[in-house]
Order: sequence, then structure tokens, then C-alpha cells
Amino acid sequence: MQQSKVSVAENFFGKITKGQNGPHKVVLSKLLTPFEGDKTVACTFCTNCNNYMEINNHSLEILTNIASISKSSDMRGRYIETKKCGVCNSTPEGVKFKNIPN
Ligand SMILES: [Zn+2]
Repeated sequence: MQQSKVSVAENFFGKITKGQNGPHKVVLSKLLTPFEGDKTVACTFCTNCNNYMEINNHSLEILTNIASISKSSDMRGRYIETKKCGVCNSTPEGVKFKNIPN
């Protein structure tokens, strides 16, 4: 019986789902790198375009509004993951606040 290439690959890697460009997985060491900007309050990662961004307080407020959560004053040990960001899309989508795993 002939198997398609996708099903052969799925046997090796499990179910394969593809987004437009991603999804990409976050690289933790990039989140743990000290911020370069002196106004940076948090780091975002976009699973669609694989982009890491340092954001300031103003951007953090925008993202907390999109995520419909109350603003977190302390972002230490946390980062923001988006399905789409301002780089690959006009507005961020799928905004999630996440803990950086130890
Ligand atoms: Zn993006």
C-alpha cells in the first residue's frame, strides 16, 4: 500500500499542522537574554513570524487590552506570546501572557 509523504512524515513527527509562516516554537534562551532597551518592560514572541520584540510600557498596555486581562505590573519571569504581531499583521492577535518555564 502506498503512503503519502505527509502520512509518512506524520508517523515520524506526529500530527503536522502548518500555519501561513509558522507556527514557530519559542526559544527560551532568547527570552532570558537581558533587555537591551532601558524602557523595555517585557518581551514578546510571535509564533507566526518567529519574531522577538522588546516592548515598552505603552505596548504592554495595548497587549493587555487585546488579551482582555488586567495589566500586570510585574512581568518578571513572564513573556507574551502572539499568534500574529505588529510585524506580520497590522494588529497583534492571539495574545497570551505566559510564564517562562524554568
Ligand atoms: Zn509576527
